[in-house]
Amino acid sequence: MNAVDRQFSNAAQLRRCSRRVMVGDIAIGGGAPIVVQSMTNTDTVDAFTTSMQVAQLARAGSEMVRITVNNRDAAAAVPRIRERLLKMNLEVPLVGDFHFNGHKLLEEVPACAATLDKLRINPGNVGKGKSRDEQFARLIEIACRHNKPVRIGVNWGSLDPALLARIMDENARCTKPKAANAIMRQAMVASALESAVRAEELGLAGDKIVLSCKVSGVQDLIAIYRDLAASCDYPLHLGLTEAGMGSKGIVASTAALAVVLQEGIGDTIRVSLTPEPNGDRTREVIVAQEILQTMGLRAFTPLVAACPGCGRTTSSVFQELAQDIQSFVRDQMPVWRQEYLGVENMTLAVMGCVVNGPGESKHANIGISLPGSGESPVAPVYVDGEHTVTLKGSNIASEFRAIINNYVTQRFPRRTPEIDQ
Ligand code: SF4
Repeated sequence: MNAVDRQFSNAAQLRRCSRRVMVGDIAIGGGAPIVVQSMTNTDTVDAFTTSMQVAQLARAGSEMVRITVNNRDAAAAVPRIRERLLKMNLEVPLVGDFHFNGHKLLEEVPACAATLDKLRINPGNVGKGKSRDEQFARLIEIACRHNKPVRIGVNWGSLDPALLARIMDENARCTKPKAANAIMRQAMVASALESAVRAEELGLAGDKIVLSCKVSGVQDLIAIYRDLAASCDYPLHLGLTEAGMGSKGIVASTAALAVVLQEGIGDTIRVSLTPEPNGDRTREVIVAQEILQTMGLRAFTPLVAACPGCGRTTSSVFQELAQDIQSFVRDQMPVWRQEYLGVENMTLAVMGCVVNGPGESKHANIGISLPGSGESPVAPVYVDGEHTVTLKGSNIASEFRAIINNYVTQRFPRRTPEIDQ
C-alpha cells in the first residue's frame, strides 16, 4: 500500500466487499480505492480512433476503459488497439463489452480474449431459450481459459425475459403479490446472483467476478444495490444507466451513486453521460472523480472552492479567475502527480468579496478573496490560514498561479521510489 492508498484507508474501511478482483494491475474491491471507469463511443473497428479515445479517457483519469466488441472486425481490432496504447506508454486495462455473439467472437478471435483485461457479459443478452445456458457456459469457459475476470452486468433494458417471467409467475401465486416495480428489482438482483453462482459452478473463481445491475431510476438503483450488497460479497460496479445529458445526467448519477457509496456499497463506478454532439467524452471521467472526491472517498485533483457570486460581484473577474485556476490546476496535475506526493489533496478557494472571502480562504491551503463592488481593489491571499500577500492590478491571475505552483513545490514531498513504497 503506498502513501496515497493509506491516506484513503478510512474511506476503504467503509466498504463491505472483502473480495478483491484484479483487472490488469488495478484492484477492484477488498478495500482497494473505488475505481473510476469509462467507455468509448468510437467504432472499435477503427483501432486508431478508438485507441486515441481510450488514451484521452485514461489521461483524464479513467483507470479502466470499456470498449464495444460487437463483430469479428471489432474483436480483431482489440490487439491493435492495445499495441497502439503501449506505443503511447499507456497500460490502462481494457474491458470488452459483449452482447449476443460474445461466445463466437471470443472463440474465433482468441487474441481478443487474450488481450482484454476483463470481459463484460450481460446475462440478458447471452442468448435465448436453450442456447442461453450453452452460450453462457462457452463465455465462462473462455474467461477461465484466459484467466480473465468477468463482470456480470445486468441492465434493466435487457433483463433476461425467461427469468423475469419465472419471477412474475412465482409472484402471481403469492397471497400478497408484489408491485411490478418490486418484481423488476428482484429479477435484476436474481439475474446477477444466479449468473454468478452458475459461473462459479462452471469453474470461474469467485475472485474473478464483479457484478452490476444498472437501471435509469435513482430510487431503483439504490434499492437494487442495497439488496445486491446484502446478498453477496462480490465487488460491485455502480452506474446509473442512460443517465442523460448535461446537468440532468450529472445530478441523477450523483444522487444515486452518493447514497449507496455513503453506505459502503460500490467498488468501481462509471458515470454514463450522453455527450453533447462533438462533446468531450472525458467529462464522464471528471464527474466520476468529482463525486468520489467531494464525498471524501478519494482525491484526484485539487478542487477549487468558489462562492456563487451575488450582487457584490458585479464584474466577471471573479468567475474568470475561478475558472482560470481550476483549468490551471487540471492542466498541471499530470506533471504534479508524477512529481509530488499527495498534491491531489491540496485545497484552493477563490472568493468574490470580503463577506465570506477571508474566512473561506483561510480554510483552504491557498485562498484569494477578490474585491466585491465598492471594496478597495485589492485581493488578499491566504496560505495555510495566514495572510501572506495582497495582490492588485491586472496580473492577479498569473501571480496567483505562481503562488500555487510555488506552494506545490515547497509543501509536497517529491516522489521517490522509497517514498512510494
Ligand atoms: S462571498 Fe461575497 S461575493 Fe461571494 S456570494 Fe458571499 S457575499 Fe457574494
